[in-house]
Amino acid sequence: MADAERTPGFDTLAIHAGAKPDPTTGARATPIYQTASYVFDDVDHAASLFGLQAFGNIYTRIGNPTCAVLEERVAALEGGTAALAVASGHAAQVIVMQTLLMPGDEFVASKKLYGGSINQFNHAFKSFGWNVVWADPDDISSFERAITPKTKAIFVESIANPGGTVTDLEPIGAIARKAGIPFIVDNTLASPYLCKPIEYGADIVVHSLTKFLGGHGNSIGGIIVDAGTFNWSRDKKYPMLCEPRPEYAGIVLHETFGNFAFAIACRVLGLRDLGPALSPFNAFLISTGIETLPLRMQRHCDNALAVAEFLSKHPNVAWVSYGSLPGDKYNTLAKKYVPKGCGAVMTVGLKGGYEAGVKLVSNVKLFSHLANIGDTKSLIIHPASTTHRQLSDQQKIAAGAGPDVVRLSIGIEDKADIIADLDQGLRG
Ligand SMILES: *Cc1c(COP(=O)(O)O)cnc(C)c1O
Repeated sequence: MADAERTPGFDTLAIHAGAKPDPTTGARATPIYQTASYVFDDVDHAASLFGLQAFGNIYTRIGNPTCAVLEERVAALEGGTAALAVASGHAAQVIVMQTLLMPGDEFVASKKLYGGSINQFNHAFKSFGWNVVWADPDDISSFERAITPKTKAIFVESIANPGGTVTDLEPIGAIARKAGIPFIVDNTLASPYLCKPIEYGADIVVHSLTKFLGGHGNSIGGIIVDAGTFNWSRDKKYPMLCEPRPEYAGIVLHETFGNFAFAIACRVLGLRDLGPALSPFNAFLISTGIETLPLRMQRHCDNALAVAEFLSKHPNVAWVSYGSLPGDKYNTLAKKYVPKGCGAVMTVGLKGGYEAGVKLVSNVKLFSHLANIGDTKSLIIHPASTTHRQLSDQQKIAAGAGPDVVRLSIGIEDKADIIADLDQGLRG
């Protein structure tokens, strides 16, 4: 193959996709285009931008050149056709569902999800008339049984909560395809370095950029990736995509934009009208973070496996849930979907129950006790005394947040220091 035809590898795309030296200044790093608006060339140019006849910048709520670098980079890493960056992972989920669902519609979601997503689906989304139906990823047929004529999408996480569990994406994607509905995968815990859900049938990938893509715990952001795989016109079920839009002189977005129509619809309808735009400064920090994603993610995995092995033999630990551990319930799925490692996050059961959880989060020194994952720093939380404290004991256990459970997000420090800190915290 001639050099010009080479497809760049993942590590190269993480650094270069979407970016080039600034044409006016030569700046090698992507500038932060900190502007609200953009000057039109002339009246005709302005009219063509507003009519969607030309691509270009109008107003940073709808698009920004610094955000565009991030969008192109994540689309390239996931193998999608286009992407839309927004203000948070939760905003990405709102925009996706608002583009797909009308009031009274349903979607099927895995019940093993980030706690914030469970809340968003059960409460905020229900108030919009978007009705979640829960399915069990350990029983794939429960997804098929949950589908009704009103179902507009299936939603799962690749590596899922509680930490260290892996979802069997391929058969769930096949169920979505058979039902003629898009398959949405939240790939936050894996990142495209560990798993590319589009290869297993995902039509839409969403991320909280706040976690591993940004990677440094310094910026909130979210992104929607369009795989370009779904036929929005086939069953006429998605009016935002397959019906003439009165906002744009009767354009049908799927006809006009083909295999990136979903990303366009999310931008020119969802983001334009609902408004959760990402700031260019956050886009800059997150794109910079992505440059080292492959190095960080591999170190997260290597450290996490060493910690999981250490903890699984520790006298004060009852169990460890981490898919890459030999013998783990999810080990077969982990080998298929995340062969480089099961990410940074794991859950651990302590023999001493609630008191032991409280003691461990108080004793650790290197770990930070907080509600986040995917930082370079090692993080710990005891859900029963924090994020899940309002639930009954039974509800806590059902959510994987029993009194004995702690969740760890293993950072990229020296693994000997991480292990020593946990050991002194468990014994102290
Ligand atoms: C954090 C997180 C979200 C929400 O993202 P925010 O950026 O906090 O809004 C969604 N899904 C998963 C898996 C997450 O970890």
